[in-house]
Amino acid sequence: MDKVLSVSLGEIALKGLNRKYFEDQLIKHIRRAIKDIGFEKIYKEQGKIYIQAEEQFFPQMINRLRKVFGLVYISPCIKVEKDVDEIENAVLEAVKEKIEAEKIKTFKVDTNRADKNFPIKSPDFSRQMGGVILKAFNELSVDVHTPDTLVYIDIKQNAYIYTDKIKGHGGMPIGTNGKGLLLLSGGIDSPVAGFLMAKRGVEISAVHYHSYPFTSERAEEKVKDLARILSRYTGKITMYSVNILEIQKEINAKCPEKEMTILSRRFMMRIAERIAEKQNINALITGESLGQVASQTIEGISVTNAAVKLPILRPLVGLDKVDIIEIAKDIETFETSTLPFEDCCTVFLPKHPVTKPRIEDIEKSEEVLDVEYLIENAIENMKVTTIE
Ligand code: ATP
Ligand code: MG
Repeated sequence: MDKVLSVSLGEIALKGLNRKYFEDQLIKHIRRAIKDIGFEKIYKEQGKIYIQAEEQFFPQMINRLRKVFGLVYISPCIKVEKDVDEIENAVLEAVKEKIEAEKIKTFKVDTNRADKNFPIKSPDFSRQMGGVILKAFNELSVDVHTPDTLVYIDIKQNAYIYTDKIKGHGGMPIGTNGKGLLLLSGGIDSPVAGFLMAKRGVEISAVHYHSYPFTSERAEEKVKDLARILSRYTGKITMYSVNILEIQKEINAKCPEKEMTILSRRFMMRIAERIAEKQNINALITGESLGQVASQTIEGISVTNAAVKLPILRPLVGLDKVDIIEIAKDIETFETSTLPFEDCCTVFLPKHPVTKPRIEDIEKSEEVLDVEYLIENAIENMKVTTIE
């Protein structure tokens, strides 16, 4: 009786012709996630991916696998040959282990016969194995509606018997939906935005703007810590750190005070777009959420968009703050995000920021700035780090 981990693919199972590509991407990420733990083999068998490894490593592997996108369930399984006696032994073993782990009283058997050459039909086989369980464990009874545990039997090339389905995040394997450059601040929202787009299969890089020495090195470290937490899900992240103090000083000296926020935001987008173009990245990602702060109005968004051609993805746009916080806690960025360090945006915060900017006014204000020089200068001095 071998023990293996099975991995169910959700949405990607629906992808018809692309299926093989998605599966191979997922296998690549599974391999990356567990390579330092050590496994014998990863293989596909009729719609699922299986990992052969020493059982003692399973808990640690499951923890890592839960963070791999594209994966819906993970199950520790007993693998046997497609032989009725062998399956019977495996079923008894699985139920025995389940009873030792939890106080179960009722069960239901669920057979899935992918190999139609197996001579017994699924419902009949479930009934037959149910009988075997009842005979071996006096304390158990069948409950087809709300059983304490299900006993799954997948009959394929081999037979797999398991009782647990541990939930993964779902989504799609990273890299199957292009690349995005995340504007990563030290706040609560942008790490969540990066997580959500990564979950949709987007490969993430990050850009952070700071105003050193007006903002501290500790603030910079905090953002790197956030990127590090994100990288548990995304794999390695290339992070660009850009000092925009000169730009902020220029705006502060030459433009209306109330436009400071929207003007800096347009510079952030332009610099991000410039970096994205050089790296063949197809979209920008922000943590903006409509109405959350003064600058996040429809007018603000449209004036921000007008500064660049690349699409700006805003996965949080319709979420409430409480929902965003819940995700931040779940992905473990919340605690770091709420550490009290200054952000570059607060350095020259206007008292009354314009909430409904008009593109004509903003473009007029920018006429006095050497936009091209400011962008190139900032990019020339940026630092690039790889976060793992
Ligand atoms: P967050 O919680 O992500 O900081 P926020 O609620 O503070 O967002 P804003 O300050 O309006 O909202 O920022 C909106 C978005 O702009 C952020 O989610 C982020 O994507 C981007 N952004 C803001 N400041 C920075 C920065 N210093 N570096 C990189 N991106 C930034
Ligand atoms: Mg912020």
